[in-house]
Amino acid sequence: MRIYSLFSSSKGNSIYIGDRTQGILIDCGVSFKRLRQALDICEIPLSAVKAVFITHEHSDHVKGLKGLTKATGIPVYSHPLTLDELYDNDMICSQAMEIKDAAELCGMRISCFDTSHDAVSPCGYRIECGSSACAVCTDLGTVTDEVLTGIMGVSAIVLEANYDEYMLRTGPYPFETKQRISCGIGHLSNDQCAELAAKLVRNGTNDIILGHLSQNNNTPAIASAAVSAALEREGFTAGRDYMLSCAPAECTEAVYVTF
Ligand SMILES: [Zn+2]
Ligand SMILES: [Zn+2]
Repeated sequence: MRIYSLFSSSKGNSIYIGDRTQGILIDCGVSFKRLRQALDICEIPLSAVKAVFITHEHSDHVKGLKGLTKATGIPVYSHPLTLDELYDNDMICSQAMEIKDAAELCGMRISCFDTSHDAVSPCGYRIECGSSACAVCTDLGTVTDEVLTGIMGVSAIVLEANYDEYMLRTGPYPFETKQRISCGIGHLSNDQCAELAAKLVRNGTNDIILGHLSQNNNTPAIASAAVSAALEREGFTAGRDYMLSCAPAECTEAVYVTF
């Protein structure tokens, strides 16, 4: 299976997991029009998208959900509280499906794990296909045991590297916003991401895709440098022990990671 990161930043998130015949979306945080354009670039027909899984109700994850469900009728999976919130805000025009233990779709088993973030019931996703697995883990202020259990042992992961601590501290955001981002229910810093990436690679993860980068408090070069430095300190070599990439804010070519 493949992971296509269509959109990934504080401005909008959507990841397609599957192949060119069938798969699922994790989040739909851009307009339906922009989502279609990105799928076109990746040569994924809209009919291949069988469901959308939502991590939480923040607009950078659900902005295009109404348009997507209206146009395609595909079901929306999430935690019951998140689904209630989306219904109350008139964001779902199709069937809402509560995730109990896991959902089985397109030859994949999709399960969720709770994350620590300022939303009603935020989660990340683990997607298993045969003997391999991947995970999408963004929008978390701290790494809990539940997160570790949810992502450990995956071969590929989209992992949040939201902000560089120095850029956030010295940047233009108001004090309250800085606090919100860096608190335990905010976002992961590059250093927190790096520490987690080292644990993952030690446990067999090959592909680390840095995602949900802040466009004001981070850059792909700074995030990649922080994570690769931590991995090198652990004795891991890029290309041999792991592959590191950065999900673009918006995809401009068909790039994917196979798991
Ligand atoms: Zn969020
Ligand atoms: Zn977000």
